[in-house]
Amino acid sequence: GSTIGILGGGQLGRMLGVAAAQLGYRCHIYAPDTDSVAAEVSAEFTCAKDDDIASLTRFADACDVITFEFENVPVDPLHQIEACAPLHPPIAALDIAQNRIAEKIFARDHGGTTAPFAEVLDRGGLDKAIAEIGAPAILKTIRMGYDGKGQSRIQPGDDLDQHWEAVAHQPCVAEGFVTFDHEFSVILVRGQDGEIRFWDTPHNVHVGGILSVSTAPAPAEIIEQQDSARALAAQMAEAMNYVGVLTCEFFATRDGPVFNEMAPRVHNSGHWTIEGAVTSQFENHIRAVCGLPLGDTGLAAKKVEMHNLIGAQADDWQSLLSDGANHLHLYGKGESRPGRKMGHVTKLHF
Ligand code: ATP
Ligand code: MG
Ligand code: MG
Repeated sequence: GSTIGILGGGQLGRMLGVAAAQLGYRCHIYAPDTDSVAAEVSAEFTCAKDDDIASLTRFADACDVITFEFENVPVDPLHQIEACAPLHPPIAALDIAQNRIAEKIFARDHGGTTAPFAEVLDRGGLDKAIAEIGAPAILKTIRMGYDGKGQSRIQPGDDLDQHWEAVAHQPCVAEGFVTFDHEFSVILVRGQDGEIRFWDTPHNVHVGGILSVSTAPAPAEIIEQQDSARALAAQMAEAMNYVGVLTCEFFATRDGPVFNEMAPRVHNSGHWTIEGAVTSQFENHIRAVCGLPLGDTGLAAKKVEMHNLIGAQADDWQSLLSDGANHLHLYGKGESRPGRKMGHVTKLHF
């Protein structure tokens, strides 16, 4: 069989690996840590840093197609490995998604609405930005943030020095705080022939900047905004000539959907699709990058809910099994740590 290379070794790679194995593929994981949880489900594992070009090239030569589960892989080395094996999604998607400002401009260029924002490159820039967009606001590092890390929430009258410290003086974007009714995500898959399919829109609840619960189908107030959010996500996918699963996060506001950010990969708000959709996001991502026909994205139940197990929430996983309808997923990360995604549990309602 063919070998799929996956850059990144976390739980998303692990779940991609399971889906790939089901379709008869071997996976070769490339990740910097020896304890990568994706390695356990893969045929091969290369442990090396992304800037180790010799290792990266050897990895790429051993793969028939390459994808990634982590959007912060350095882009420059990828241009070199594209010569060894096809890479999906495209590098352009990483370029945009790695930079919160480029991402917002890209969304606006395709007709999307974003929070008001201003670039903050130094301490003086923070004063200017807050004078311009006002408070409350959120200061986010332009690069590398996830799960609410690298962010600081600014209230009116706050001492801005503290916030500038909180982001370690890194280049940031200051965003106006969006008053939203709900959060949701558009999860789509685009095939090599350009076909796009959407999963049902999950309603996402975040706690402390980390996804806690995703439910599908979403309430009516989200469904009303689904068409315009989907149209934006599809236009962005087409503009990038995207192949694979793409996720766009939105705020549902009284004035319509506000684009927050995109992830050029399978997404935590789509984990419910493993049992809750006819074809999961992981399987369709594998199908797309391998050039296979896409599977049906329809709901497999009347209602689906996914709860993340964060930190100590995973410690008592055995009690979750007392409900025989719970589908428990543990990522094999060992001991729980606060804020760490240890697993999730999905329940279908018929
Ligand atoms: P991840 O990539 O894990 O989704 P992240 O670190 O990139 O997270 P964001 O998605 O930007 O962070 O923000 C995390 C959460 O914080 C959002 O889902 C939302 O609940 C809240 N949030 C972020 N930006 C804003 C904003 N401008 N206004 C209101 N709430 C916000
Ligand atoms: Mg993010
Ligand atoms: Mg987010």
